[in-house]
Amino acid sequence: MTTQPLLTLRIVEETDVFAVRQRGREVAAALGMERQDQVRVATALSEVGRETYAMGATVVTFVAAPGPPAQLIVDLAVAAAAPDAPLPGFAAASRLVDALQVSDASGTVVIRMTKRLPGPRLSADALRTASDRIRSLRPANALDELRAQNEQLLAALDDLQRSNDDLARLNEELAETNRGVVALYNQLSDELEQTNRGVVALYAELDDRSARLREASEAKSRFLRNVNHELRAPIASILGLLGLLLDPDGDPLTPDQRQQLTLANAAGHDLLGLVNQLLDLAKAESGRMERQIEPVELAAMVGQLRGTLQPIATNPAVELVIEEPPIRTVMTDERLLGHVLRNLLTNALKFTERGEVRLRVRPDGDDVVYEVSDTGIGLADDELDRIFEEFYQVRGPVQAKVTGTGLGLPFARRLAQRLGGTLTVRSELGVGSVFTLRLPAEAPVAEPVS
Ligand code: ADP
Repeated sequence: MTTQPLLTLRIVEETDVFAVRQRGREVAAALGMERQDQVRVATALSEVGRETYAMGATVVTFVAAPGPPAQLIVDLAVAAAAPDAPLPGFAAASRLVDALQVSDASGTVVIRMTKRLPGPRLSADALRTASDRIRSLRPANALDELRAQNEQLLAALDDLQRSNDDLARLNEELAETNRGVVALYNQLSDELEQTNRGVVALYAELDDRSARLREASEAKSRFLRNVNHELRAPIASILGLLGLLLDPDGDPLTPDQRQQLTLANAAGHDLLGLVNQLLDLAKAESGRMERQIEPVELAAMVGQLRGTLQPIATNPAVELVIEEPPIRTVMTDERLLGHVLRNLLTNALKFTERGEVRLRVRPDGDDVVYEVSDTGIGLADDELDRIFEEFYQVRGPVQAKVTGTGLGLPFARRLAQRLGGTLTVRSELGVGSVFTLRLPAEAPVAEPVS
């Protein structure tokens, strides 16, 4: 469907501007625009009409484009040259309609205003009804239009008042919400402050406890160092004396005396062993344990371990398997590494009644992992941490049959740390344990922080 001319008017006198304004509103109403849009179209027409009238007699044509989109098009044509500068009336009108174009051809300036109609298209029926309504309109005089304008103004003022009321209500609601937010914020700040105070107090207590723990640990190391020095000398002299007494070239002894002195000698050696272990631990704890990092031939080292452990692997029901390591050399301290592995393997042999004890070495990234596994009595979950505490020993029928000090594992863990690594355990009661020593393949040159 093509565009449909609805109405043509002329502006030859100033009062015609009123008539065009009024007609514009009526045409907009006939085409179904809502009240505010009607006023917009009327006002835009009056603004543009005033400007074109100043330029000359103007022909105003209303056209409906059924769409889509359905539009009202109003052309104001005046026989004049296009204005040099943009006219204020055009600018004002352009804010009220969807588009305002000024074209200039063969001495005629045409101002075209376009405004969308409600709905995507205008049906033929609606268009016919609108045309009939527009045709039946009676031209009104300027006074009528002034009255109509006043009514529109009053209606606009009413709308404004309503908007103001809405705004005031919204402001009140906003103030209410703000009060709520402030109250919530205050409450949260209070809670936060309280929590902060709690955390600060907790930290103070924690600092206090760490300080006390540090002091206790230092005191213990000091005690161990001193006691050890005080103990080793007398034990050494007792052992020396016992050695003299037991010397086959010495004074003769009765069999009873020899047996008792032999027992005392064995007990003395046990005691010396314990004191030596304590001294080692004290040294390791105070960070004074020497270490010498150098290339270590792993095959040779585990071969040596096999040799020293074979004599104590006396239970025929337990097989000691020392696997050939798949790595040739590592950079570490051979003595300390040997000590840890010997300790783990000795423990495994002590606490395994049947099955096997196995040492397996494997590379893992930049680390070398040494796994000592056994099919022994295993450990309960709550023992897994405690066995690394000094003097801690699990009580049980199997443990009662073997000797020990409870110092081996804490010392081994210290040594592992000293070598820049870790010593951990996983175990299942009645199934067996796996102690895992993880060391860097190349121990760091810098001292690890212990
Ligand atoms: P010790 O062996 O001299 O008692 P350790 O510190 O080496 O001291 O070990 C502490 C305790 O951990 C042992 O007394 C034992 O109860 C437990 N334990 C250590 N190794 C094993 C193991 N392979 N299987 C079961 N229990 C173990």
